[in-house]
Amino acid sequence: MTDFTDEQVERYARHILLKEVGGEGQSKLLDAKVLVVGAGGLGSPAILYLAAAGVGTIGIVDADTVDLSNLQRQVAHTTDRIGMPKVESAAVTAKAINPDVNIVEHNTRIDVTNALDIISGYDIVADGSDNFETRFMINDACYFAGKTLVSAAILRFDGQIGTYKAHVHDDDGGHGPCYRCIFREAPPPGQVPSCAEAGVLGALCGMMGSLQTTEVLKEIMGIGDSLSGSLLVVDGLSTEFRKIKVKADPGCPLCGDNPTITDLSIHEGATAPSCAVNG
Ligand code: ZN
Repeated sequence: MTDFTDEQVERYARHILLKEVGGEGQSKLLDAKVLVVGAGGLGSPAILYLAAAGVGTIGIVDADTVDLSNLQRQVAHTTDRIGMPKVESAAVTAKAINPDVNIVEHNTRIDVTNALDIISGYDIVADGSDNFETRFMINDACYFAGKTLVSAAILRFDGQIGTYKAHVHDDDGGHGPCYRCIFREAPPPGQVPSCAEAGVLGALCGMMGSLQTTEVLKEIMGIGDSLSGSLLVVDGLSTEFRKIKVKADPGCPLCGDNPTITDLSIHEGATAPSCAVNG
């Protein structure tokens, strides 16, 4: 267990007071490495709360620069940083909150050529990307790399979130679902509108990004009930939260009994929509 400095004891006092967290849980957070995919609507609150929580290493991957239209929801960025790479802007904000944490800036679009390399450097991945192709690719890459994935998505007033760790087998050989067990494959481009086309309520991003961070912190510390095996669907207009039970699909092409996806090659040449609006 980490020996805390006096300053750390004070900074993390409200965590350490929680009996489920304590010094042991806080040590795990300080030792943890979390990758956040997308420094946008979901990634912004996720990065801020991960930094505030003292997660020791936070990787941020995003190729975009801050745009005026981002600021309605992407709270890690500020008006005077329009034009700055989002990873740099998010790192500045995170460091201002907590200089204790190490921020790794991946100023690139995550794709089939770099996904495994980037993901392998982390313990857990929080995906807040803004398109299906990336979301499926991250699911597949996390499965191959043996990393737990907490994936969230938002559109208009709706959000959903799930934890996927199909690589973790229990004693009888069973495992939880991967993202593909539930959604199977990405819809054809253009079928589902993006946030840039359909809009999104900014505060909903904060809610979903905070939920995502809560699940990441729980997974790191091994406390509470994992969201693995459930899909949480949020209707922001009616303020309804539905937790749907989901199971691993033996016919899943990735984590099923006879997998047909055995590497990331199905994602080669896939064009994730180049979107200036991340989440
Ligand atoms: Zn699966």
